[in-house]
Amino acid sequence: MRYPKIRELKEAIRAILKGPYTSEFPYQPHKPYERFRGAPHFHQEDCIGCTACFQVCPAGAIEFKDELRSGKAKRTLIVHWDKCICCGQCQANCPTSKGIVLSQDFEMSTTEEHAALFESIDKEIVLCGCCRDIIAPRDQILWVARRLGALCFSNASLMLFYLNALNLASRDDSLKLHESELLRSDRIKVLCPRCRREAVLKS
Ligand code: SF4
Ligand code: SF4
Repeated sequence: MRYPKIRELKEAIRAILKGPYTSEFPYQPHKPYERFRGAPHFHQEDCIGCTACFQVCPAGAIEFKDELRSGKAKRTLIVHWDKCICCGQCQANCPTSKGIVLSQDFEMSTTEEHAALFESIDKEIVLCGCCRDIIAPRDQILWVARRLGALCFSNASLMLFYLNALNLASRDDSLKLHESELLRSDRIKVLCPRCRREAVLKS
């Protein structure tokens, strides 16, 4: 016959004195432990729209789409809670650490369609000053420029962003294509890598 070990006896005595470990949820509200990993939520102010969370999500619970809407280019980031396994990889790999944060929300049951279990945010996208191709979200470029500080003056696009954030340079928000050949003056524009190469080589 095997006798109970001391550790098991201690657990049994503790359970008798403290009551059961289980909670009475759903009849009583349940408060998760402090480090519980629940549904992730985006934070508009801290997300820079870089899509690192999309790239590392092992469950494919995050998606993004870039589109033109009401004359503006937007990136929409979506987290699907019905696919999320609450692993925390998105938060751990977010460059700002606060763009997407796991919450203590665990009640995901719904009478709605599964497709209704999602959250999304929009980020403004910057287009190339010449070919109007997508460069990156405005917040991401600004985040890079701020981190580089004075070093961003070595790159015309980053410099313009930095000055624009200080209200020292104007923004070019037109969606019109640049039809003529690239000139030397076009080098001082926010350009995609292909147009920048072309502007540098041709001028
Ligand atoms: S900033 Fe964070 S939350 Fe936003 S897209 Fe990048 S990784 Fe995702
Ligand atoms: S917690 Fe894990 S599964 Fe859920 S969205 Fe983040 S990376 Fe994807």
